[in-house]
Amino acid sequence: MAYACTHCGKKIKQLESFIRCPYCGGRVLLKERPNIAREVTTD
Ligand SMILES: [Zn+2]
Repeated sequence: MAYACTHCGKKIKQLESFIRCPYCGGRVLLKERPNIAREVTTD
């Protein structure tokens, strides 16, 4: 599972206790979900 920086958009694979972007130092809050089934919207 990878994380993406919400500040610069860089991808961070390293997952430590404290998640932060090594590029800009911003907090990483964006989780990249694995390729799963598409979300089906039912009315
Ligand atoms: Zn960043």
